[in-house]
Amino acid sequence: MRLTFSAELVNDPFGDPGLYVDFQFEPRALLFDLGNLAPLPPRKLLRISDVFVSHTHMDHFFGFDRLLRICLGRETRLRLYGPPGFTAQVEHKLAAYTWNLVESFPGDFTIDVWELDRGWQARGTRLRCHQRFQGEPLEARQLQDGVLLDEPAFRVRAAFLDHGTDCLGFAVEEKAHVSVWKNRLAELGLVVGPWLKELKDAVTRGAPDDTPVHARSSDRDGRHERLIPLGTLKDLVVQQVPGEKICYVTDVAFHPDNVQRIVALAGGATQLFIECAFLEQDADHAARKLHLTARQAGSIARAAGARLVIPFHFSPRYAGREAELRAEVEEARRASPSIPGTTA
Ligand SMILES: [Zn+2]
Ligand SMILES: [Zn+2]
Repeated sequence: MRLTFSAELVNDPFGDPGLYVDFQFEPRALLFDLGNLAPLPPRKLLRISDVFVSHTHMDHFFGFDRLLRICLGRETRLRLYGPPGFTAQVEHKLAAYTWNLVESFPGDFTIDVWELDRGWQARGTRLRCHQRFQGEPLEARQLQDGVLLDEPAFRVRAAFLDHGTDCLGFAVEEKAHVSVWKNRLAELGLVVGPWLKELKDAVTRGAPDDTPVHARSSDRDGRHERLIPLGTLKDLVVQQVPGEKICYVTDVAFHPDNVQRIVALAGGATQLFIECAFLEQDADHAARKLHLTARQAGSIARAAGARLVIPFHFSPRYAGREAELRAEVEEARRASPSIPGTTA
């Protein structure tokens, strides 16, 4: 199967949280959280188009400066997404520097910040280098079902989670791969051509089955156009392969509402990156810190039906005990009898 993305943690699991999602077929990447970005070389930072910040505890946000430093002076644009209060926090970071000479910088580095609220209203602010990063309001957007970004090949969805403060979880959902059986086209007297793009686009966007498709056919009298319902073509000539789903969840309290939201976000994930700050033997401490234990994370992964679980954000107290954390997650993912948080 043709994979569009590859995802990897920015740091080792004891380091700052962060996920880099690289595009295989274009010079582009998505970044989740802005902790320590030192492992990412400039060429990787410059591929980033969109940054999704779960919350602004320092281990998730202090790397903003490194990204800013690399992008400054370039004609590049970044979109940043974050929870309530996020725009002011980005502006405060920028306000810590002096910008009196930036008008002469060759490129007008631009940041579009999108701050989300619990009603899924996204308020945008444009911050341009040549304007000394003075905010210019963008038209507010009302998001549907937590979808922040909806592109032809994928979408990014968010969920509001609780960490004593609003904390966002994210899922990158690749849309189904649509391909056409060329041999079956021929059997139906149809020919390849630009109309197949129309067909694939209609399938990808989920158009109704009675949508007429302008198919091209060929016979001894020449070429013709035939209107064929989309549903018929889907049955006869289209193959759909489900896309990847990469989910990133960190810094969350273990309680029923959070568990339900995470399971909904991560349902059917092909890769679930999930925090495992503590071992279950320290569950009381985890609860006070509003973090998950490895067992809790594993039980959530099991409830979500995640195919692969990648734990991270291990507490430094377990240095040298990484194998225990990993074993606890896996054990709970395979055999969790129930999710304690869901029965309360
Ligand atoms: Zn935190
Ligand atoms: Zn954290």
